[in-house]
Amino acid sequence: MRFDTKLVHEGQRTRFGHGDVIPPIHVAVTFDPSAQDPARYYYARGESPTREDLETCLAALEDVRFALAFSSGQAAGAAVLSLLEPGARVVASDDVYGGTYGLFELCRRRGVDVRQVDLSDVDGTAAALSGGVNLVWVETPTNPLMKVADIGAISAAAHRAGAIVVVDNTFASPALQQPLAAGADVSLHSTTKFIAGHSDVLGGALVLDDPTLHGRLLEHRTVVGGVPGAFDCYLVHRGLKTLSLRVARQVANARAAVEVLTASPLVAAVHYPGLPHHPQFELAARQMSAPGSMVSFEYLGDVAELLRRTELFAAAVSLGGVRSLIECPASMSHRPVPREVRARAGIADNLVRLSFGIEDPADLVEDLCAAMAAASYAEGSATR
Ligand SMILES: *Cc1c(COP(=O)(O)O)cnc(C)c1O
Repeated sequence: MRFDTKLVHEGQRTRFGHGDVIPPIHVAVTFDPSAQDPARYYYARGESPTREDLETCLAALEDVRFALAFSSGQAAGAAVLSLLEPGARVVASDDVYGGTYGLFELCRRRGVDVRQVDLSDVDGTAAALSGGVNLVWVETPTNPLMKVADIGAISAAAHRAGAIVVVDNTFASPALQQPLAAGADVSLHSTTKFIAGHSDVLGGALVLDDPTLHGRLLEHRTVVGGVPGAFDCYLVHRGLKTLSLRVARQVANARAAVEVLTASPLVAAVHYPGLPHHPQFELAARQMSAPGSMVSFEYLGDVAELLRRTELFAAAVSLGGVRSLIECPASMSHRPVPREVRARAGIADNLVRLSFGIEDPADLVEDLCAAMAAASYAEGSATR
């Protein structure tokens, strides 16, 4: 089966001989093993049919054996980082999701050495990997600057250094980027974003092919209990079926807006891997089937005013849903990241991040242009 067919057909077991075309939501949390042949289900913190359906589909989308669904992307990330003992070394992207930065801080408190470097810089990355590393955490494209790291090259170097490689694939989704095929060990998703796609359910997932690693992560999840319930799994899986359709429109919308943003005198810099002047344009073209639908730019007017003026773009964090969103990383998504760390990573206070939904591109462009013009006027008239 090809990718778009798997989205619809994988993990669609029906169990009761009713001919359902969609599996029922299986709500039992405890199961009588003697009534099963073979015994498979015992207690839903460990295994649960509706969760398994979702996991079957997520694993198939990246052509591997295992997927583990979690109650959030953060729970999935925490499970991976729980593999590390005090004294372990992590090398990670410098420009990561704000919550991931929080997870790294928790690791540092328990004696794990987390070094954040610019993984799009090949030489700097090689230097950081020398001297023994246990885990490499790659976010690509990065949030919010859309830097692109070479998953294949980093994975090869990390494996030589003895590390496992985790790629946070949330921004691209498996529709646009396949980290495991490129050589990574674990693909991490906040399924809250593109995979579920409707901003109405939290979830996370780890996708991988190594049975030993899978066993350790499953043990962690079963003991700690960061599992999603049956209804949440159903919602994520329902959203997943339209992933390719949504992402195609989202990318088209992003491209339409990027064209306008790059031509605007109100914009200083546009960060989008689909722009020929993006520093990793060629790598992105090789590694991703499209440049995605996340865009950030430095706005020369009043950012707070811009966020108030857009009507179709809701001023909210998160991304990947059917509705377009606008936010300011410095004051919203990346506020937990200390100012000097943000400055070092190049996240300016006037950086604006857009997540494109599936609306009509002309409406989105009009809304953005009208809001930018109005907010720049507000800025120009301010007495400072
Ligand atoms: C949202 C997000 C996460 C965390 O996921 P939650 O589902 O919010 O816990 C991790 N990484 C990236 C890139 C994200 O956008």
